[in-house]
Amino acid sequence: MAHEVQRPTYEVVGPLERFDERDNAFAREAYLPGTPAEREYHARHPELVEIDHRLARFIQEKIDNPPEVPEDPLNEAFYETTFGSVAPLAQPDAVDGPVNSYQVKVDPVQMARRIKAIARHLGAYLVGIGPLNPAWVYTHRGIRPFFEDYQANPPLFTGVPEGYQGLKYSDPIEINHKYAISMAFPQNLRLVRTGPSLLNDFETGRVYAISALAAVELGKYIRALGYPARAHHLRNYGVLVVPVAVDAGLGELARCGYSVTKELGANFRLVCVTTDLPLAVDNPVDLGIQDYCDKCLKCADNCPPGAIPSGGKVEVRGVRKWKVDEERCLLYWGSQGTACGICQVVCPWSKPRTLFHRFVAEIATRVPQARRFLTKADDWVYGATYEPQPFADWARSGQTPE
Ligand code: SF4
Ligand code: SF4
Repeated sequence: MAHEVQRPTYEVVGPLERFDERDNAFAREAYLPGTPAEREYHARHPELVEIDHRLARFIQEKIDNPPEVPEDPLNEAFYETTFGSVAPLAQPDAVDGPVNSYQVKVDPVQMARRIKAIARHLGAYLVGIGPLNPAWVYTHRGIRPFFEDYQANPPLFTGVPEGYQGLKYSDPIEINHKYAISMAFPQNLRLVRTGPSLLNDFETGRVYAISALAAVELGKYIRALGYPARAHHLRNYGVLVVPVAVDAGLGELARCGYSVTKELGANFRLVCVTTDLPLAVDNPVDLGIQDYCDKCLKCADNCPPGAIPSGGKVEVRGVRKWKVDEERCLLYWGSQGTACGICQVVCPWSKPRTLFHRFVAEIATRVPQARRFLTKADDWVYGATYEPQPFADWARSGQTPE
């Protein structure tokens, strides 16, 4: 197949080290000063005390001074609509569960075809299957389930359910599945281009929610066939979904920290299902993204807090890659009160899926000499500097965003 290669295009330069989810910026912003988790974490990482206290300040302020009247109640309610709906799907009996005692005998090639068809029917635009590299499995749980005593998210559940068997903060994670099915769900470009905004948040949350449901459904389907399967989605990841997707041939690791695909650019959200169901795997792809990102700095130039590097790659846990400063990114979100998404939509690969844009993407992948020109052409046609698009009244006017 076009673009297929034997090894992913990220460069492994040392032993791969597993990532501890407790080191994730989203976990660290919840270390409210003085709490047991905060004290334990910062005893191990005193160098992060200052930056983590800055990260936690936005949550602490919300707890200390909850606004009595929302500034924008019609749009602020979107958060509950989407992000709130994902919470039940994060429960252990949603992402995992008992496996049927009757095991259906399957042919790996035919089964892979069937799984991809089902995933697409569940809403995925891109589906790939890779071997699960154990290095991409988190070492410890860092994001708290909703029902724990943690006030940063809506208190949708209170108290740990009786007989709870799932992972709690700091529990070790062991996932030994052989395969990972990665699914990419596109975001509406028009709404993400309003970011940072509550509408961008709404769209991001909508895609997180439908993709989470699809991952949970696919996991349940596989367990009903008699094979273990575990869904990974917002609020309950056990693996790093970006390198898992790259290994499954969905795209390449890019400067912006996401994977960039030929079909959707960087404008999508990822979920995956890990499993032992016998499946034929896909090869990774070389779309020329490493070379393209070398020539194109658009995400770095447009990132408001300068969180995306303009320079070269560095070694991170055994991989040479562009390293996004996630603390800067998250502090910027906190200052705006919403997520941002600028890097996802300024990327020249993130375009409507028209015939013309598909043709340009094809050239970018096949003609290395054209890439510098294409980065310039993108600036001429779409502007070098990001301008958020107003779209304030779409819901009131009854319009559906294109
Ligand atoms: S989401 Fe915004 S702040 Fe974060 S890296 Fe992308 S452009 Fe920068
Ligand atoms: S904007 Fe340019 S540099 Fe950034 S990820 Fe996209 S192609 Fe790479």
